[in-house]
Amino acid sequence: MWLKRQLERGALSLLSGGGSRAPAILIYHRVLPAQDPLFPGEVHRDQFDRQLGWLRSRFNVLPLLDAVQLAAEGRLPARSACITFDDGYADNAEVALPLLQKHGLHASFFIATGFLDGGRMWNDTVIEAVRRAPGDVLDASALGLGRHAVDSWDARRRTIGALIGQLKYLPLEQRLQQVGKVASLSGAELPRDLMMSSAQLRKLHAAGMGIGGHTVNHPILARLPAAEARQEIAQGRAALEAALDAPVRVFAYPNGKPGQDYLPEHVAMVRGSWYQSVSPRDQGIGKFGLRLARNMLQPAERV
Ligand SMILES: [Zn+2]
Repeated sequence: MWLKRQLERGALSLLSGGGSRAPAILIYHRVLPAQDPLFPGEVHRDQFDRQLGWLRSRFNVLPLLDAVQLAAEGRLPARSACITFDDGYADNAEVALPLLQKHGLHASFFIATGFLDGGRMWNDTVIEAVRRAPGDVLDASALGLGRHAVDSWDARRRTIGALIGQLKYLPLEQRLQQVGKVASLSGAELPRDLMMSSAQLRKLHAAGMGIGGHTVNHPILARLPAAEARQEIAQGRAALEAALDAPVRVFAYPNGKPGQDYLPEHVAMVRGSWYQSVSPRDQGIGKFGLRLARNMLQPAERV
């Protein structure tokens, strides 16, 4: 099974890594209530249940902040793993949380606060528009985005990939405009509950789960002017602390490839705003990624 191979590979590297020992970091985004014909590979409830059972039997699953602390003290147990979720999907609270509780496992959730309470990430707007597009063809040629077949789940899946591929390198403003037009082409009402509500966020927190920052709008920090990047980092944190009435101490970089998505100056900004950063993480292996992050954990710096 693919997951086991990945984990075993990770565990082996972990054990043979030597030097700075770091936990394996599991990065989830969504846990769907059931399999989605648009994303047959996306993790769903039953799979997540099995993955947690397997993880629990093979790994020391630790809260991320505990792992940070233990690693700093050189006391991180072998085969340590941390479970994380990026972005703030509502299914994290509705589907994943009860299963984490069932298995007695801790996870940390990194929330892009701009999408709380009814927001939607641009790629999900494309996905949900194509899911609902009527007929056999989605004609986006007036937008310069071509005509695409939507006459089967397979075709819809390919159309989503093609549209996202064309849109993702546009400058932010232009991308959001184009995405809005794709949404109107479908003529359908798009869901406003894909991302967490503040109440769902508080539910995770009240259940003892970790909550971390992930900016406001999920920009690629390296492509922003410094002042805007600093704002994204600080405001995301302030919004979470206001919603939770509690301090928020960890941060994950959107996309998360060091040198490409964020730079040393952003690490300094995160530290400057009293965060512990989790770095480097990245989302390389589809939506269920495992990264053995050497040097991942940076000691807290208080200013
Ligand atoms: Zn993210």
